[in-house]
Amino acid sequence: MKLKVLGASGSKLPGFGLTSFLLDKNILIDTGAAASMLGFDEQLRLDAVLLSHIHIDHSLGLLLMADNLVGSLNKSIQIMSIPEVLDGLREHLFNNQVWPDFTSIPNGKDAIFKLKPMAEGKPVRMGKYTIRAIRVSHSVPTVGFIISDGKSSLLYTADTRATEKIWKEAKKIRGLKGVLIETSFPNRLHGLADLSGHLTPHALLQEINKSGLKVPFYVFHIKAMFVEEVQKEIARLKNSQIRLAMEGATYNF
Ligand SMILES: [Zn+2]
Ligand SMILES: [Zn+2]
Repeated sequence: MKLKVLGASGSKLPGFGLTSFLLDKNILIDTGAAASMLGFDEQLRLDAVLLSHIHIDHSLGLLLMADNLVGSLNKSIQIMSIPEVLDGLREHLFNNQVWPDFTSIPNGKDAIFKLKPMAEGKPVRMGKYTIRAIRVSHSVPTVGFIISDGKSSLLYTADTRATEKIWKEAKKIRGLKGVLIETSFPNRLHGLADLSGHLTPHALLQEINKSGLKVPFYVFHIKAMFVEEVQKEIARLKNSQIRLAMEGATYNF
């Protein structure tokens, strides 16, 4: 599987893209930078979006892409997540106030977006992939995803503070090739990180040790204001499993 990093940042400043990854050509994992990084033709090619939670830095691309695609898209794009996330999306974003309800435009049958509820932990098929949503620990209902093509698997933590369930699941995955893991704040802001449901480099190392996994961990979601400080703290960990998810890069798993 080919994964392109469209945005790996946890906040927006010039030169930093909000969290979004493109799997092959047609599946998005979160959408922060998607509308600014994918051309119109690339947006038309999308079949599905795995949405971890409704925070704007992950959902923004849905709103902006819907506006681009209406009138041109001749299929529906599936938004996949647990029911709480999908309910929140309709209630708080596609509520005809913040933004039009693109889950019923132009009509319910041919809407730009169709909501596809996932039962937590249950595999759902999308193209050649089997995808599972596993709840993590953030400030709002949030899931990470385990994505497998039968040979290789990839784990995406989404936004989380210290968490348990996804690491238990990870131990059972066959062919796990890599983990995309968030780290947002420097160590000195650990109180803020925990309050807002995020990791620091110190907490990142604890999660890696807890997981017992020996695969590469690609860090994303560093807050742009603290990027140098967090990168220095990560370098000081001297852990050869840790890499930075680089915006614009494509990784093969
Ligand atoms: Zn976020
Ligand atoms: Zn968040």
